Amino acid sequence: MGYVKFLGTAGARFVVARQLRFSAGTWIELAGTQLLLDPGPGTLLRARRSRPPLDPAKLAAILLSHKHLDHSTDVNIMVEAMTDGGYKRRGALLAPTDALAGDDPVVLRYVRPFLDRIETWNGEHEICGVRIRPVPHAHGTVEAYGLVLDSAEGRVGFVTDCRFDSGLAAHYAGCHLLVLNVVMKDWKPEIDHLSLPQAGEIIAAVKPNLAVLTHFGTTMLRANPRLLAAGLAESLGIPVIAASDGLTVEAAEWGGSRLPAAGEQVDNGGGGGR
Ligand SMILES: [Zn+2]
Repeated sequence: MGYVKFLGTAGARFVVARQLRFSAGTWIELAGTQLLLDPGPGTLLRARRSRPPLDPAKLAAILLSHKHLDHSTDVNIMVEAMTDGGYKRRGALLAPTDALAGDDPVVLRYVRPFLDRIETWNGEHEICGVRIRPVPHAHGTVEAYGLVLDSAEGRVGFVTDCRFDSGLAAHYAGCHLLVLNVVMKDWKPEIDHLSLPQAGEIIAAVKPNLAVLTHFGTTMLRANPRLLAAGLAESLGIPVIAASDGLTVEAAEWGGSRLPAAGEQVDNGGGGGR
């Protein structure tokens, strides 16, 4: 059965630098396909120390939402681990253009030939039965994307780092599970990240079966993410939980195990049929 496992839940530089939470990425299995989203610092370590240990050689793809360090530090070592030290050419990397080209690419040229394919986010992508659609996000000066993953285990959305926009929710319509990077408790106009009330606005509009908050900065951690999530759940009438390091959310929890095969789902953006 599919799952989403949060190897790390740190957001914001301070939390990452002090490792108040781990900053490893998110391991995803959908319809038997294993994917790794945003391998921040410590991803290889947290994957191997996970119980049971997660095996990079089983990954079909690494997904990079944007090139900020807390999302990409371990991308090169994970490519090497995924390809058996570079000896077994396999796997895919999906990444923004500026992670691969320009002045300051984060993906080393040295590891690129280890991969079967490298794709830059554009339109729709397909990895072993999982369809992946990028959602352009406004986030500082880098190219950034949220992701919507469709498979036989439902629709899973990742609202990764972004500046809030009232049009965002429409891109995540129909998500059974919605994961949101919520760095700040209160909105600050100068910071291109979601705050808790803005996350609430998106959840209220999307109405997923389950919403998971992650990628916490200090204001979220100080206020106890579990209590904040519970408060949001109560006010919205939608299940909302806060991720903790190592948390696994199983497909059954978002209804993914009871769904018809991909393609049979209602896909009109209205959440119909749920
Ligand atoms: Zn970022």
